[in-house]
Amino acid sequence: MFWADKILQNQKGPQLINDSFTPSGVVHMGSLKGPVIHDTFYKILKDQGKEVLFSYGFDDMDPIDGLAPNLQEKFNKYLGVPLFLAPSPDGKGSFADYFSAKMIELLDTLEIKPDLYRTHEIYQRGEFDAAIKVVLDHADKVRKVYGDIYHKTIPDTWYPLQIICPQCGKLGTTRVAGWDGTDVTFNCEKNLVTWAQGCGASGKISPFGGRGKMPWKVEWAAKWATFGITIEAAGKDHASAGGSYDVAMKICKEVFGKTPPLKLGYEFFLSGGKKMSSSKGLGMTGEELLEVLGPRVAHFLMIKVDPVRAVEFTPRGTDIVPKLYDEYQKSANAYFEKKDEDISRAFELSQIDEPKMPLQVRFSVLAQLIQMPNMQEKIQKAGYGDWAKYARVWVDKYAPDSEKFVVAKELPKEAKKLSKEQKNYLQKIAMELEKKLNPEDFQKELYVWSKELAIPSKDAFAAIYLALIGKDHGPKAGWLILSLDKEFIKKRFLEIDKN
Ligand SMILES: [Zn+2]
Repeated sequence: MFWADKILQNQKGPQLINDSFTPSGVVHMGSLKGPVIHDTFYKILKDQGKEVLFSYGFDDMDPIDGLAPNLQEKFNKYLGVPLFLAPSPDGKGSFADYFSAKMIELLDTLEIKPDLYRTHEIYQRGEFDAAIKVVLDHADKVRKVYGDIYHKTIPDTWYPLQIICPQCGKLGTTRVAGWDGTDVTFNCEKNLVTWAQGCGASGKISPFGGRGKMPWKVEWAAKWATFGITIEAAGKDHASAGGSYDVAMKICKEVFGKTPPLKLGYEFFLSGGKKMSSSKGLGMTGEELLEVLGPRVAHFLMIKVDPVRAVEFTPRGTDIVPKLYDEYQKSANAYFEKKDEDISRAFELSQIDEPKMPLQVRFSVLAQLIQMPNMQEKIQKAGYGDWAKYARVWVDKYAPDSEKFVVAKELPKEAKKLSKEQKNYLQKIAMELEKKLNPEDFQKELYVWSKELAIPSKDAFAAIYLALIGKDHGPKAGWLILSLDKEFIKKRFLEIDKN
């Protein structure tokens, strides 16, 4: 049984799926895994006729706790300020809006349509007020959960809340020191964290209506408890034993007295066996991923194997993208042949509309076709347009050099080392060009002629490639030759003898 079907087997009653994203930086390709997995759950449950909602939040009440190098100078003063209160780098809206916009665009491209929300609005509307009261009234229970999981004593002076400092606007620098049932006492401290400096203000303030924020593990539990979330997967960094997932689950049960959601910790993509990380320059952004895969194949990449297993995805200089397209085509065949296999289900769930048979041409062949001159019209006519666009991106940005070629305007210098037999072979081709053959038959003839001239086919084909692209290997020769102007080929293959 397909992993997603299996995981959902025992979900009874109405379902609320939730996922969220902290809009504080570039959207890495791995950040799309959550939305795709949750959307897959949503599709499955909806198909089963279940009552199901899918919400996707932007955790914009979180403080800015780090900055990309290009923003450091201008935005240093906003470190510690909630994401929704700092200005946008492009001057339009907030810091959070700026980074949320990219994710919204990518969700659109993937045709994932959850109900979007902004966490600061939940606070401001007072929807978390009850939860805030619970965690302050029962701060001892929250301390105990932390203490039990992290094996240390949390002091009685610690409260699970921070306040947006009314004087400097920072949240990351404030500490709540007391709670009287109505107000909290707080201090905005200079040295609470290393990445931001508080202003020294202190006082009493109501923690409700958007003035205060729970630490995010507590907030996570509060979300589940407040809205009745039944399913929420998270990346493996949160899901390891004793990690934030476990803390939030325990708080949900022991502080709020509610059942936590179904747990699924998904693995990251690997790049050369290591975790992909944008900060280390490995991996790619969500935008780059969709530019070369499009929405369906991107869905397929994210769900084809059980997400508890890590998937290697190193597109630069490898054939991993063409292979993924091959796999996608194979899974489509399995689906249309009604084979009850996991890959056929993976194909079905990767669709964003009625399942359609994908192109039958291999992606690697298409990548060759688009590099041949005068092929544009033929590619469009054959209906390859969509994938040709992705193949173009792959050739330009990711393909290994061995997969790239350009037909040389002048006879390449590499062709000067051709043997007499190779030259004869090219002349033979030039003479036979008038035969009206299609590329497939022409390709067969190329083998026949090499036999006739008693030249090993490897040397024969090398002659063609050396004369046209200056390499000893290349794309399918029959197609390459017929994609070029006949007179050009004749001239090139006949002039060779004079060199
Ligand atoms: Zn302050």
